Amino acid sequence: MNRVQHTAWCAKDHSCGMQEHRSDPYRAVHPGLGTLVVTRVQHADGRQFAEIRLSVPLVSTDRVARRQLQTALTELHHLLRYFRHIGRSAA
Ligand SMILES: [Zn+2]
Repeated sequence: MNRVQHTAWCAKDHSCGMQEHRSDPYRAVHPGLGTLVVTRVQHADGRQFAEIRLSVPLVSTDRVARRQLQTALTELHHLLRYFRHIGRSAA
């Protein structure tokens, strides 16, 4: 991929040699809430992705922590469906 032109947003680091372009990660720390890290990625075939890492504190009570995890999975699934919806609207 060394001869391939970088995207405008590519961080132009070592990851470009791994068949993809990656942006500098956007990091947002929300004290008391959690941390978000979002990286824009373009694979060698041209498809782009948002790589999202979300860290949220869980309570110590297992039953409630499981409920928090269930809520996180549900809300993330809604986000996936939203992205598909706006992707189809733009096509
Ligand atoms: Zn690149």
